Amino acid sequence: MCETDFSGYPDCRNDTIMATAQALSLGLARDIRIHTPLMWIDKAATWTMAEELGGSALVDLIIGESVTCYQGDRDQRHDWGYGCGHCPACELRAAGYARYRAGSIGQASEAAPSTVRPEKS
Ligand SMILES: [Zn+2]
Repeated sequence: MCETDFSGYPDCRNDTIMATAQALSLGLARDIRIHTPLMWIDKAATWTMAEELGGSALVDLIIGESVTCYQGDRDQRHDWGYGCGHCPACELRAAGYARYRAGSIGQASEAAPSTVRPEKS
């Protein structure tokens, strides 16, 4: 669950999770807590967290074995994983992965700029 950059579905919001935990606690007569470590970080930070927790092996596992695409598309593989590439979940995942990668290789990009725009004449 992540409210920081999400597609707008109300079940992704922290208020929904807190209300669900309260309902479960009342229904079971015991304290129920739902942990949502991704709630307040964006998708780039989520990729970074994965790398910090499990290194490139975990990042590769997520890319190869998880699907967040709303269409469930596993036919198209991108650098960020499988998905249609066009639904809101794919767009968020792709943009977050791009920001994560840019942060990881930012110094190399600055040292050797690969794109130079010609000036208008
Ligand atoms: Zn998709």
